[in-house]
Amino acid sequence: MSGTHHHGPGGHHHHAGDSDDTLPPPTGTRIAEGVLELDTRLGGWDRVTAGYLIEGDAPVLVETGSQSSVPALLAHLDRLGLGPNDLAGVVVTHIHLDHAGGVGDVARAFPKATVYVHPKGARHLADPTKLVDSAARVYGPLLDSLYGRLDPTPAERIHVLEDGEEIRVSANRFLTAIDSPGHAKHHLGLHDSWSGTLFVGDAVGVKLPDGGVLRPSTPPPDFDLDLALQSLGKFADRRPTGLALAHYGLLADPLDVLDEANGTLRRWAGVAEAAFRNGEDIAAALSATFASDLDGVAEEHREKLEVMNGVHSNAAGLQRWLATKAPAEGTSET
Ligand SMILES: [Zn+2]
Repeated sequence: MSGTHHHGPGGHHHHAGDSDDTLPPPTGTRIAEGVLELDTRLGGWDRVTAGYLIEGDAPVLVETGSQSSVPALLAHLDRLGLGPNDLAGVVVTHIHLDHAGGVGDVARAFPKATVYVHPKGARHLADPTKLVDSAARVYGPLLDSLYGRLDPTPAERIHVLEDGEEIRVSANRFLTAIDSPGHAKHHLGLHDSWSGTLFVGDAVGVKLPDGGVLRPSTPPPDFDLDLALQSLGKFADRRPTGLALAHYGLLADPLDVLDEANGTLRRWAGVAEAAFRNGEDIAAALSATFASDLDGVAEEHREKLEVMNGVHSNAAGLQRWLATKAPAEGTSET
């Protein structure tokens, strides 16, 4: 688990101009024309959580990261020259706290920005009480030591995105929302019409630049294999030019990666299902089968993977999915 070097949102407040070497590089990384990857540095780590700024006369931010990432995010935007009235929109792929925890803070910092979210996530941004309570149960002490919480967004600032709806970034640039449940029921992909980049949140899985293979992300309480596979198919149908993962960065062979994601999801679900039917521990079965994925990944980087996308979280989500679908398929033991 994480060490004591993590600090919560109340711990440190950075402002642009601070000469603090924990701040991110000044202007992010350009991954496509008019698309900047911003390292939002969850836990102070490099390249674990990404936000993306889509440039245009109505600039839009995709993902805020967690509330603890807000200082790093605001420093990026300040150094890019975005004043308080310059950001037109903030869209979150889904409302897990490592993607949306900063929304309330960012909405406050940019009073003209519209906040875009999936229909099933909107009420939680307006009143985060239930979401934060359930996150507290899942994350335990990491909620405050690592992620932070989620401040409410005024309801009139929230725009619910339906499948296929477009966010205008400039006269000839739109982000199209793609309903993509599976990882979570409130998950959207965003497809940039100009660069062809598809922002996939967690729907394709997790692959950190510091090592390891693409792994699925199957957390409780929503994970659903069939929906997740359908969502990958919807992404492929759009023929994106690249996939931008929240964890982390651009993958340039989108159709190959979507194929790989389909395969890894099926393998993880298959191992989990066999363990479930045999009454074995799903986490142990997943570890035994997939631990070698991380051969060659340095110890310092394994911690990031374990916190972001640990076997136990995936096992818990797969367990819940299997337990939910089992009665419908007549697999009860009676
Ligand atoms: Zn997520």
